[in-house]
Amino acid sequence: MDPLQQAAEQLFFSVVRRLPVTFVRGKGAWLWDDQGRRYLDFVAGWAVVNLGHSHPVVVQAICEQARTLTQVSNQFYSVPQTRLARLLIHHCCLDRVFFANSGAEANEGAIKLARKWGKLHRNGAFEVITTLNSFHGRTLAMVAATGKPVYQAPYHPLPAGFVNVPYDDVDAIRAATSERTCAVMLEPIQGEGGVNVPHDDYLAQVRHWCDQQNILLILDEIQTGMGRTGTLFAYEQAGIEPDILTLAKGLGNGVPIGAFLAKERAAVFEPGDHGSTFGGNPLACSAALATLSVLVEQEIPQHAAEMGDYLRQRLQELQATQCLITEVRGRGLLIAIELGAEVAQEATRLCLEEGLLVNPVKPTALRFMPPLIVTRDQVDQAVEILTRVLSRLAVPVPSPSGRGSG
Ligand SMILES: *Cc1c(COP(=O)(O)O)cnc(C)c1O
Repeated sequence: MDPLQQAAEQLFFSVVRRLPVTFVRGKGAWLWDDQGRRYLDFVAGWAVVNLGHSHPVVVQAICEQARTLTQVSNQFYSVPQTRLARLLIHHCCLDRVFFANSGAEANEGAIKLARKWGKLHRNGAFEVITTLNSFHGRTLAMVAATGKPVYQAPYHPLPAGFVNVPYDDVDAIRAATSERTCAVMLEPIQGEGGVNVPHDDYLAQVRHWCDQQNILLILDEIQTGMGRTGTLFAYEQAGIEPDILTLAKGLGNGVPIGAFLAKERAAVFEPGDHGSTFGGNPLACSAALATLSVLVEQEIPQHAAEMGDYLRQRLQELQATQCLITEVRGRGLLIAIELGAEVAQEATRLCLEEGLLVNPVKPTALRFMPPLIVTRDQVDQAVEILTRVLSRLAVPVPSPSGRGSG
């Protein structure tokens, strides 16, 4: 084994099984490892580098800001933070924002806000309805929110106040609603759950129910936001507006930053209610400001929609000739293929060998989340590699080798 990788295995908590590659450089949709090998990146740092690796405008913003000012406490105003807030609020339906450092933290803030709102405006209601198979982050409260028993099992007792119901099922939300409920929190498309796209009217029906019951709708767009699904935010495609919206992943194109935003009526925080040392620091905000500017000015979400349509079309063509693929699903450049067998880990390993990074989102499904600047030619190259890999996997192997998990 490679010495650096061997050292890493001794140094870190083993919370993840890593693939045997050490990346040292990235540009656009390409990554290079420490052996000088090049890979087409359809993982994009986990749906993060939407503008591609080392986008020149973002690099310039980071360098300039690093030279100028990286941190002031939130006791003071700063120019990049206010500029970013103004641009973000201009391009979404929310009125106020808080900047955090990650997705889980953004969701934590959103839940705190919803609970305070429940205290003030719904007789102390505190419960939040979330969905099974969702993903909202790894802090204790977000593990309770995330409807995945395997993530929850080692950490009981979990923070109270979350009810997990089936996704894409409005009746389940109706049935779970009580006088204790202050909000429903959903992903417009479940990302980590396997790229689960709900029925077209699901979000509109949930919105309608929340209005009827006077409870808040929180959309977790940490994965679907920032152009990923073909519009700047996925809620635009559902024709609804959330009361609270959370963002992270693509917001800083690789520089850690998260945010939660709210409509004025839900913006009930007062001085002392919430805070962060690093949240909204000038460095992260400059990166995010550059990222959002490029996304909007160059109409990157529109490009993501076009490339997403093209990738889905190419995958559907492949499905017609390749019996291993049983379904192609997704929106924009958040796409998955369902495979008829538990071969996603093996497919991922073989793709890696051929210079393509993909994500085995489930034992039976591969997820594709390339940078949104991916070209038609790069989509073709990826599909070509995938075609070769799947045809190798479709041939039954004599002795079944160890089937990996997680
Ligand atoms: C990735 C993700 C999170 C957690 O974000 P972190 O930055 O890892 O804390 C939360 N919600 C969704 C939908 C995500 O995809």
